[in-house]
Amino acid sequence: MGVSRSMKRAFKYRFRPTDAQAAELLRTFGCVRKVYNLALAARTEAWTTRQKKVGYRETSVMLTGWKKTDDLAYLAEVSSVPLQEALRHLQNAFARFWGKSSKYPRFKVKRKSRASAQYTRSAFRYADGRLTLAKMAAPLEIVWSRPLPVVRAQRALSRKEKGSANHAKARTRVARVHGWIADRRRDHLHKLTTRLVRENQTLVIEDLTVRNMVKNHKLARAITDAAWGELRRMLQYKTAWYGRELIIVDRWFPSSKLCSVCGAIADQMPLNVREWTCESCGTTHDRDENAAINLLAAGLAVAACGADVRPQREYSSHSGRSVAKQEGPPARVGIPSPRGRGPGQKNLGSVKAPPASRYT
Ligand SMILES: [Zn+2]
Repeated sequence: MGVSRSMKRAFKYRFRPTDAQAAELLRTFGCVRKVYNLALAARTEAWTTRQKKVGYRETSVMLTGWKKTDDLAYLAEVSSVPLQEALRHLQNAFARFWGKSSKYPRFKVKRKSRASAQYTRSAFRYADGRLTLAKMAAPLEIVWSRPLPVVRAQRALSRKEKGSANHAKARTRVARVHGWIADRRRDHLHKLTTRLVRENQTLVIEDLTVRNMVKNHKLARAITDAAWGELRRMLQYKTAWYGRELIIVDRWFPSSKLCSVCGAIADQMPLNVREWTCESCGTTHDRDENAAINLLAAGLAVAACGADVRPQREYSSHSGRSVAKQEGPPARVGIPSPRGRGPGQKNLGSVKAPPASRYT
């Protein structure tokens, strides 16, 4: 009791700096390197010629002096924090040397040393997913997507001469990456579908035409990545295992265009529209949430129609029974919140193809 624990967390981001930001960063890296080298030279000189120990504090005073000289005035143009941190890094390097865990600190070389600058908490601002460094007017643009490893492997393969040993090696590598991605995806889908089936008595999904959607090149990657067909297959056999109900709503049911509040149907709903406002009732909808509510209501209406026909029902365009032919807005049934449901409430869930990012 009474022991408080805190955890440090590290986040790694990639940035796409503007030209001005890139120049500012390069200037900072250069100044960090300069300060580190100057301090190392000063400490080495003091010790070798005068057997005098110069520590972090003394170098910090020196830094203030350097900034005032004509030659080194440019050091004052970048954020002072990374420069101060460079002196601390040097101090740590000496500590490791004294502790016999590493060699005597070496000078940083532009081409060989890793360009870096460390900003402490006071020298950056992170808000709303935007990182702004000291001395920078605009936040850095974070690159959220990384090239898939398979793309890199594929590129490496294309560079190798056909028939060569390296080509064969690169080909094995591509195959391995493919296998690795497939494993990860399958594992993720298994966890997701098992959870969905366990937590819900009835699941409603939309019968999306994956094949047609893949023909659209903009969509193709997102959909194949989402492995929608695989998800559906898993849901089908797992609902059967667990004695749950899976209702597949006809692909022509206007799940996205239909306002779940008033039942009005929007004229058009291109896929890039993620949020829309109903012209009839003025409700603003999240595209996927609204569609999920509609699907659940439609699925339940179907389930209620043929309540005791078969335990495992599937409604698709092939069976000739379509919920799209229903008139008027679908009945609204208690919509469960995504997390945690009341004890007496029947567990219901609906699934709408989520964005691909959740599957990668
Ligand atoms: Zn409406």
